[in-house]
Amino acid sequence: KLGNETAKAELGRAAWKLFHTTFARFPDKPTAEESQALNAYIHLFQRLYPCGECAGHFRKILDKFPPQVTSRSAAAAWGCHVHNEVNKSLKKEIFDCSNIGDFYDCGCADGEAPEGG
Ligand code: FAD
Repeated sequence: KLGNETAKAELGRAAWKLFHTTFARFPDKPTAEESQALNAYIHLFQRLYPCGECAGHFRKILDKFPPQVTSRSAAAAWGCHVHNEVNKSLKKEIFDCSNIGDFYDCGCADGEAPEGG
């Protein structure tokens, strides 16, 4: 079966958006349980990512660069870095990770933690 590059790219953009926005909303000072949850989420994201070829590539990146889950800024910087690893392998432009801070806005009310309801 022929791949569908347009669908694959669309899936990628949607996935990256969710991925980075999740990190942008992760607590500055997470509990051990919150850090564990993010680590598990990232590994499951890789395992269940619907494009198998992409999941295989991403697994190697995770092996090399284990998720950084100790704080929001660590997670956001890590997410930016691994996305740049994918960009490199696809010969895309490298994103300036010093701009990651304000780039991903969830559109949620201020001060609401994800579990705050
Ligand atoms: P995308 O890379 O989708 O990025 C979307 C937007 O995010 C950009 O326009 C930019 O505004 C911003 N951005 C770019 N870089 C960063 C960064 N480092 N940090 C934060 N924001 C950034 N496609 C394949 O063909 N082969 C693969 O093996 C493959 N593996 C993938 C693995 C994963 C885990 C994911 C999520 C996607 C993968 N993709 C793969 C899809 C690919 O990464 C792109 O999503 C797709 O090619 C569309 O690219 P794009 O140029 O629109 O921008």
